Order: sequence, then structure tokens, then C-alpha cells
Amino acid sequence: MEKLSADAIVVGAGLSGLVAAMELADTGRKVIVVDQEPEQNFGGQAFWSLGGLFLVDSPEQRRLGIKDSRDLAWRDWQGTAGFDRNEDYWPRRWAEAYVDFVAGEKRSWLRAMGHRIFPIVGWAERGGGAATSHGNSVPRFHITWGTGPGVVEPFERRARAAEEKGLIRFLWRHRVDRLVVVNGAVTGVSGAILESSDASRGVETSRVEVGDFELTGAAVVVASGGIGGNLDLVRQNWPERLGKPPQTMVSGVPKHVDGRMIGIAEEAGGRLINRDRMWHYTEGLKNWAPIWPNHGIRILPGPSSMWFDAKGNRLPQPNYPGYDTLTSLQHIMSTGYDYSWFILNQSIIRKEFALSGSEQNPDFTGKSWNLVIRRALGKTAPAPVEAFKQYGEDFVVANNLPDLVAGMNRLAKSELLQLEKIDREIRARDGQIANRFSKDAQIMGIYNSRGYLGDKIGRTAKPHPILDPAHGPLIAVRLNILTRKTLGGLETDLDARVFDGRGDIIPGLYAVGEAAGFGGGGMHGYRALEGTFLGGCLFSGRAAGRSVARLGP
Ligand SMILES: Cc1cc2nc3c(=O)[nH]c(=O)nc-3n(C[C@H](O)[C@H](O)[C@H](O)COP(=O)(O)OP(=O)(O)OC[C@H]3O[C@@H](n4cnc5c(N)ncnc54)[C@H](O)[C@@H]3O)c2cc1C
Repeated sequence: MEKLSADAIVVGAGLSGLVAAMELADTGRKVIVVDQEPEQNFGGQAFWSLGGLFLVDSPEQRRLGIKDSRDLAWRDWQGTAGFDRNEDYWPRRWAEAYVDFVAGEKRSWLRAMGHRIFPIVGWAERGGGAATSHGNSVPRFHITWGTGPGVVEPFERRARAAEEKGLIRFLWRHRVDRLVVVNGAVTGVSGAILESSDASRGVETSRVEVGDFELTGAAVVVASGGIGGNLDLVRQNWPERLGKPPQTMVSGVPKHVDGRMIGIAEEAGGRLINRDRMWHYTEGLKNWAPIWPNHGIRILPGPSSMWFDAKGNRLPQPNYPGYDTLTSLQHIMSTGYDYSWFILNQSIIRKEFALSGSEQNPDFTGKSWNLVIRRALGKTAPAPVEAFKQYGEDFVVANNLPDLVAGMNRLAKSELLQLEKIDREIRARDGQIANRFSKDAQIMGIYNSRGYLGDKIGRTAKPHPILDPAHGPLIAVRLNILTRKTLGGLETDLDARVFDGRGDIIPGLYAVGEAAGFGGGGMHGYRALEGTFLGGCLFSGRAAGRSVARLGP
């Protein structure tokens, strides 16, 4: 058996684990980082992410005329989170501390490490339509120049330097199966060494065991991610308020996001709270070139596509693209079908479809201004979107509505959609578009969006009738439910120390990132304002690293 010791053991080489390890190495502590995946997966999910970060009152916002403040953000956060349980004590405290961080030092802390931001701020989760309810009052979604790899890069660079100095040691293909508990304190981890793997990043790897290991340390930091890659666990935890768990879902995260380590921490006495809170999307596409099993890609939609359920009913307010993820999910699941449809046209897809994921955004990921300009001004949508239009099994493209609806029915293998009903809805909508002061709430939203320079430039098509052939062809997209983030997690105090079921701290045990619900066991409450997950990993990883460092040499 391989036996090693260090000042601290970090389980997971994703963003939160890396940040915790870096903070510790900065104080001269020796850290072992274990991960079940091979080294190619350095950075975990963060590498695949779009690198969208929630920031408040940033210079980027101010330059675009956006007036934001810590108080406005905190009000939005509370309306969105809907904290309503005794278990929300620590999540709420984490949330408030996090909003202070995003309105304070987050940007400058990252910037000092070389992190850069694209100057146009996105407007995600526009909300439920009331000042006190869910949603961002203003655009706050800042895309990292370099997307996910650009978020990971500063931490990878620093971690590699610490590795050279002998302060950090990475143990890849080491899967933790147990936390070692001695007299109520966590003193280490043990598990299996898995066979080596040269699989490319994100590809599922084998679980063949070739040895075992035990690691000892004064602290163990669980940074193992959420449950989104384990669809059975997602269904098991699916809350009644969102209807029945979907039978068909696509996976928005790699297979290693298996939730297993959260169960292992629970077995060692850690308290898991808010397990019924999750953040899954309604605009999932089956990836035509999958990397991980059942790989789904999320569309980040602009506001103009019309949204219909499986039977061709238009989704009611506030279920417009990009407004209120969980209300839309709840509504879709109440229809008895686990998919829905967008209907749009070439002008809308060109300007309004972005796909989440670093590999789907070669312009931002590759830091190419040429490609970014082509995205804003080109006649076609960005190449990855056009590729989905061409090869993706969820797309139907036609020159007229009868052919489009026939194609949609063929795709769904049903006759649920009636041409006449859909035609009536689209014509009614198109009849509202000529007036700036329409009575259709979605059209009002489109004009509102165009009032914000950032959306006008890059995210919202000039209002026009969907059926106008000059804007064709028509496009329909079948939207699947896509799993992504776990909002609940291990309950922690502001030092990231894990509680047990009696409300006592378990000495030696810490949890960060998605495994801790991004802080406290669920700092988002029920819903998220977006771009808050990577930030939650940074903030909680940093808190854990600093708090473990205070334990002394
Ligand atoms: C496509 C995509 C786009 C996204 N876009 C955004 C965005 O724009 N903005 C945003 O804020 N968030 C985004 N996210 C979410 C964000 O990337 C994740 O929530 C975050 O990176 C999670 O980091 P983590 O450190 O908690 O866990 P992970 O990145 O999941 O890392 C956990 C690591 O722990 C390892 N591990 C697990 N169990 C064990 C075990 N038993 N033994 C050893 N190792 C183990 C895993 O192999 C993994 O490497 C996106 C995610 C994806 C997938």
C-alpha cells in the first residue's frame, strides 16, 4: 500500500481544490492533491466552462452605462435564492459574504494573477418579472477572455511552480473511497489507485484498480464537485416541486462529476443539506460530437426565439429564453413531456445563439478578436452553432412553416404539433413586432434588451417578423433537459469547516466548491444568478486554504 503524509490533503484537482491548495502552498504548507482522473483533466469542470463570472459594479459594467451596486446585487440574490429553511443559516451567511467579495476584491484579486475579462457584459437570468423576485436587475455576466482555460490558467501556473518547489504533490488516478476518522477527527483518506489512462480530457476513464493508498494530514479538504454526471442520483434527489424527474436528460458535465465523494463525506459524519436544490437547464442539445457519455451542450439564448411545449403551446410569461431557468423547467415538466421547442429563424440564430462551453467558443477561448468581430457582424452564426444546425439531431431547418412543423413532428416521432395552432401563435407575435410599445411581454423584453448597448451589439436581433422570408430559413430546435450544477452540499461555516448532524464541527474536515454547495451547503438557495459557480469555487477554496493555514505548522 502507498502511504504518504502532508500538512493537508485536497480531494479533487478542480478549480476549488486548486485554489485551496494554492492558498496553502503560499504559506509554505505541504499539500497532496488527489484526483481519480488522469492529469489531462487538470482543472476539472472549470476547464470546460464558459468562464462566465458574476461581478458587481465592475469597470466593464460602468463603461456600458450599467448602474450596479452591492445592495442591488444582494437584493437580487435574496429574491433569487428564496432562503426559507433552518438549514439556510450558513448558506445565507456565505451568500452575503460572497456578494461582498464580488462587489469588492474579486476582480482585482483575479486581475493581479493575469486574469482578463471580455469588455461586453452579458445579461443572464433576467428573472421573474418583479423587482423582489428572481433575476439580475442588470447585466452582470462577465466572460473570461480565454473562457474556462483562462480561469484555470493562473492557478495551474502557480500550482506547477509550487509543485516544482515540492510544496504541492499531485496524485492522479487516486480515487478516495474513505475518510479516515480517529476519535471523531478526520485524519486522512484512503482509496484505490486506478490503472493509468491516456484518455483525452473529459473522456470517461476506467475504474480498474491496480493498488491502494492511504494519506494522512492535519486537514482534508473535499473539493470533489457535484452530482450532475450521475443521472440516477439526480433523479433520486429530484424535488417534487419540479414535477417528475425527466426520463430523458443530457449530461452537461463529464462523467467524473459522480457525487460519490459527497456520500463518502456523509458516511464519515458530514451533514449534507439542501440535496433537493439543483440547477439544470432547459435548453440542452445532444452533442453531435460527444466527448463524455450522453454529452449535452446548453444554448445560451438571446430573447427572441419563440418557445413552445411538446404540444405546441407557447410557454407563458416569464418563460422566455434566458429569463428564469427553474420556472421554465417546472413548467416544462408540468406538460408531461421532458422536452420543448424553440422556433426562430436565421437572423435570430446568427445573433442570439451562443453555446456554453470553452470548446464551443473558439473566439473567446482562443482570444481571437477577428473571430469575435465575425461573431458580431458575420452573415452566419459562429461556426460551432452552424455545425449544430447542420449535424445536430435536435435541429429542423425549413423554408416554410408547414415543412418546419412536419419536420418537428418527424423528429419527435409524433403528431403532437398542429400547423394551424403554431401558425396562429407566430402570426399573432409577428403582428406585435412593428410597435415599440407592444402588449406581448416577450416583445417588450426584446425592445428592453435592445435598450442595453451590450445586447444590441451582440445578443439581440433587430426586431422583425419571424415568418418574414428575408430572415429565413426557419429553424426549430428540440430542447432537452440538461444536468449541470448541484446547489446543495456539505454544510460548512465561513471557514469551510464541515458540520456533523448534531451541529458540531468535525475536526480536520473541510469542504469547498460544488461539493459544499459553493459554500455553506448551498449559498445559491433555490436558484442562481449565473456566473456564480466558478466564483463560488474561488471564494470557498480560498476560505478553506486560509483557514487550514491558520491551524499552524
Ligand atoms: C460546460 C460547462 C460550462 C460551465 N460554465 C460556467 C460558467 O460560465 N460560469 C460558472 O460560474 N460556472 C460554470 N460552470 C460550472 C463550474 O465550472 C463548476 O461548478 C465548477 O468548475 C466546479 O468546480 P469544483 O472544483 O467544485 O469541482 P470539479 O471541477 O467537478 O472537480 C472535482 C474533481 O474531483 C475529482 N474527484 C471526485 N471524486 C473524487 C474521489 N472520490 N477521489 C478523487 N478525486 C475525486 C474529480 O475527478 C474532479 O477532477 C460550467 C460547467 C460546465 C461543465
